[in-house]
Amino acid sequence: MTAQIIDGKSTAQKIRDEVAAEVAKRSSAGKKQPFLATVVVGDRTDSISYVTSKGKACQELGMGSVNHHFPANANQEEVEEIVRQLNADPEISGILVQLPMPEHIDEEKVLSLIDIKKDVDGFSPINIGRLAQKGRSPLFVPCTPAGCIYLLEQANVRIDGANAVVLGRSNIVGMPVALLLNHRNATVTICHSHTRELPSLIRQADILIAAIGKTEMVKGDWIKPGAAVIDVGINEKPDPSKKKGYRLVGDVNFDEAVQTAGWITPVPGGVGPMTIAMLMKNTLHAAELQDNQ
Ligand code: NAP
Repeated sequence: MTAQIIDGKSTAQKIRDEVAAEVAKRSSAGKKQPFLATVVVGDRTDSISYVTSKGKACQELGMGSVNHHFPANANQEEVEEIVRQLNADPEISGILVQLPMPEHIDEEKVLSLIDIKKDVDGFSPINIGRLAQKGRSPLFVPCTPAGCIYLLEQANVRIDGANAVVLGRSNIVGMPVALLLNHRNATVTICHSHTRELPSLIRQADILIAAIGKTEMVKGDWIKPGAAVIDVGINEKPDPSKKKGYRLVGDVNFDEAVQTAGWITPVPGGVGPMTIAMLMKNTLHAAELQDNQ
């Protein structure tokens, strides 16, 4: 059996086209342009590159964006103050604080200040709390987890009643994706670095979400035949044939798993492009929530 490849790139483009069409409609109706504010502390190249891509995506879709970049030695009060100002600014639809921040900044405290109606990353404790409770729903769902679920649904993978294994329990991917699967009536097992007998647990999974950041750790013979495999991992694997000396691979050994799985996302081109597409969707949603204020 060879798995069906789930194409995140084209799915993400479809979402972006839909968001751009809605933004254009808003503009014709004289409504406010959705506007994303990003906050970065420090000079991590990955963080700078992520916020640059987010700003570029806003521009492509007709939305506004502004980036507040603080030096690595910025203090807690300065970062909190910009979040308060952005909360109060009626032109700003969504606020995204790029993580991780330097160690001396209390991230939880900063995230908890974001107005939940502007929390487009979905990481404020209130939005996560609502996601964890039965019968409640958050105003925003974190972007990468939302992208994973969207890809499963678009591929018509049955989630209701499925055995789902989530590999990783981080606040940004593993835990929220597990909560989303639970909301959709999957039976969810969350695995982490203390989990024993990982291969045998994964062999039970109709749906596997791998989000651990370990190069091709999941082997083909760990995959249940016909399973849906969503690979969130982004890892650099040495490859002398590439200009940069490496290529990007996931947490799953794709070449092996593609022989057994029913569906699989590639890396790159799977979950990666979905994250920004979902952020754009969330920013549009934030603008809509604020229309009625
Ligand atoms: P993270 O915060 O480092 O969390 C990693 C998780 O994996 C932890 O829960 C950890 O367990 C678990 N883990 C680590 N080694 C393990 C092992 N050998 N066996 C079982 N579990 C293990 O990572 P993250 O931020 O969630 O990101 C995970 C991966 O997704 C990374 O490759 C990252 O680059 C990628 N990512 C991609 C996107 C995207 O847009 N596609 C977005 C975000 C992240 P403990 O909790 O016990 O430590």
